[in-house]
Amino acid sequence: MTGFDIIVVGAGPVGLAFAASLGASNLKVALIERRSVADLGQPAFDGREIALTHASVKILRDLGAWDAIPYSEKSPLLGARVLNGSNPFALSFDAPAGCEKPLAILVPNHWIRSALFGVVRTLEHVSIFAGSNVVAAQVKDGGATVNLSDGRQLQGRLLVAADSRLSRLREMLGIAANVNRLGCSMLICRVRHELHHQRIATEWFDDKQTIAMLPLATGVSSLLVTLPANEVSRLVLMNDAAFVAEMNQRCGGRLGKMSLASSRHAYSLVTTWADRFWMPRAALIGDAAVGMHPVTAHGFNIGLGGQHRLANGILEAWRKGTDIADPTLLRRYETRLRLSAAPLYHATNMLVKLYTDERPLAQVARHVGLRLGQNLPFVRRGISAVLRR
Ligand SMILES: Cc1cc2nc3c(=O)[nH]c(=O)nc-3n(C[C@H](O)[C@H](O)[C@H](O)COP(=O)(O)OP(=O)(O)OC[C@H]3O[C@@H](n4cnc5c(N)ncnc54)[C@H](O)[C@@H]3O)c2cc1C
Repeated sequence: MTGFDIIVVGAGPVGLAFAASLGASNLKVALIERRSVADLGQPAFDGREIALTHASVKILRDLGAWDAIPYSEKSPLLGARVLNGSNPFALSFDAPAGCEKPLAILVPNHWIRSALFGVVRTLEHVSIFAGSNVVAAQVKDGGATVNLSDGRQLQGRLLVAADSRLSRLREMLGIAANVNRLGCSMLICRVRHELHHQRIATEWFDDKQTIAMLPLATGVSSLLVTLPANEVSRLVLMNDAAFVAEMNQRCGGRLGKMSLASSRHAYSLVTTWADRFWMPRAALIGDAAVGMHPVTAHGFNIGLGGQHRLANGILEAWRKGTDIADPTLLRRYETRLRLSAAPLYHATNMLVKLYTDERPLAQVARHVGLRLGQNLPFVRRGISAVLRR
């Protein structure tokens, strides 16, 4: 049996950021991840382009990960346009006039992961248990015990679940969650196109499909298509030529003729909200606490901000020599995360409901909603401000 101060389960981007944030202390951290070390060191492209807010960029910079991401992989997002079907009217989000900051910066998820892993692997007090699955976990007054698939047992003063929106650890700890399987999937790939994207993202809601195009390098965008799950499975299995032909037809030439520029990736859409984000000797971070719908591009931003707050609370306790799993500290983390995540989580779910409802009344509501949003500058400014946070 091996003893640690903190056991983190899951070395996704949020678990890695949390371990890196604790690097300012000499707390002994165990980071358990089922993927191999090779995969952690050089993760493969997974289709996701994460729209990072300025607050997230600052956290990554402070952790020493931002500069490890090549400049060519950082694509500034200057604005966004949301459209209802073929109606040319667009709800626009732009940086305020005179503001030099982009709305957000798009960075491939695999680059965020590899940059954070680069930081974590240099930390003396972090032990990485890669290629290991957690098969059992329990918390008692004195601390937490975790059993790994290879038979090893670890003990810690605090157990942190960062093992995704379908967190097994959350279940093992007996924390309930509202898990909403939406029955649709998102297909993502990079495409080359003839017209310039002007660094503006476009999202449109058509008959039974939602399409978004996120601007990357010149003439290249990330294409995200949300469809019923069986349709996405069909698109994944298609040969490249048939796939490109269908995508050109679905996109209606918005950015000119397109060709495929990457592998294709599919994600089934599930949103989650845990009933609680802590219990004695344990906490949930990242998607294990709040699993957002990707349409508003905020899941990682929320998870990164949340882990930052929790780590700061722990570091403060460590400096003072008090309990790093003090219930007041964990409760404060939960309250702040609830306050910052709940409005976005619920607004996103409402938006998704409205925009995936094909009934005529919903279509009218969408149109009215877009017009209203455009004519109420505080709505647009509010959303842009959230993006620029
Ligand atoms: C299509 C798509 C687009 C997105 N775009 C954006 C965006 O633009 N902006 C944004 O902010 N967010 C975006 N997100 C959300 C973002 O990707 C997630 O919020 C983020 O990945 C959550 O990180 P995490 O570390 O909490 O969880 P994950 O990334 O899910 O990582 C969990 C880790 O835990 C490991 N694990 C799981 N179970 C175990 C176990 N039992 N034992 C050991 N290890 C385990 C897994 O292998 C994995 O490495 C998007 C999501 C999707 C699906």
